Amino acid sequence: MDNETTLRAFHLRFGSQELVDSLLTFIEQVLVPRRVNLLLLECNTSFQFEVYPELSEGTLNKYDAKEIARICKRNGIRLIPLFQCLGHQGWGGGRNSILKHYPQFDETPHIPTDANWPDFFAPSWCPNHPEVNHLAFELIDELIEAFACDGFHVGMDEVIELADNQCPRCHGHDRADLFAKAVTDMRSHIVEKHGLEMFMWGDRLISSEETGYHNMWESDTFGTYKAIEQIPTDITIMDWHYDRHSSYPSIKIFLEKGFKVIPACWFKTDAAVAFLGESLQTAKELNAQKRMPGMLVTSWNGWNKQAFEQFITDQLDGELKELKETLDQVTGILK
Ligand SMILES: [Zn+2]
Repeated sequence: MDNETTLRAFHLRFGSQELVDSLLTFIEQVLVPRRVNLLLLECNTSFQFEVYPELSEGTLNKYDAKEIARICKRNGIRLIPLFQCLGHQGWGGGRNSILKHYPQFDETPHIPTDANWPDFFAPSWCPNHPEVNHLAFELIDELIEAFACDGFHVGMDEVIELADNQCPRCHGHDRADLFAKAVTDMRSHIVEKHGLEMFMWGDRLISSEETGYHNMWESDTFGTYKAIEQIPTDITIMDWHYDRHSSYPSIKIFLEKGFKVIPACWFKTDAAVAFLGESLQTAKELNAQKRMPGMLVTSWNGWNKQAFEQFITDQLDGELKELKETLDQVTGILK
């Protein structure tokens, strides 16, 4: 692959000022030697928002963001913040700060806070509430300014709660239409207004049945997938699959629709290598290598000081050991 356009990306959730030094060391001693050139930093509501301080659930502030951005820039790493839009506004019936402070945005206010999976997965905000985008855009703007980024990730994975029967604005609406509206609203702000590249997770845009993934997480079983026909193709899709499948047909689906797509793996090395291999082959067959530039390695462990240190000193076991092996293998293939 062409060195200059090859993407070697890493994702982690981060929102703690106390861990900034550890992160910076991790970047310089783990990511830079492997030539990682995109860092997807999932901040969500962990950022210290200035316009809405009551929404801050973490300690990362704009000065920390500037320092992380400076170190990334110095090392040729593109820094992309992630802020979960629409879905994942909490876990189970527990609401995050946005829905706690603005319960009017809750798509399912009737769900008790102690609800748990499998009764209830995670709350969403209502995509048809006339004021929700104003709030989301202000939060996104603070992150864009703090990180001085040229791209933004809106999350939007695993959005299960949509078109709730009791929502006066969404009841009876088509789930694909609602999802497409939410995506297009975000794009109007991030791409049209700010001129940034917009990234999002791809799972709601692919049919579980059509792809053969056959599970409700990495592909859609509730009817949002048809939104793929309605959303602009200048959105970059991160297509995540963490397990070994016999095939990963979603890469071809996104490329044939005209999207740029980045396959995303987790710690399982055999799955990551197979997924990347098939993605490279598919892109070659479609002569679409520029729209399938590399791979994202995601991490979903809690990043505390110990985890960073174990990574830096190479004293790992279990999931983190395999994550590092996966990062080695993926960046080795994409060197
Ligand atoms: Zn609604």
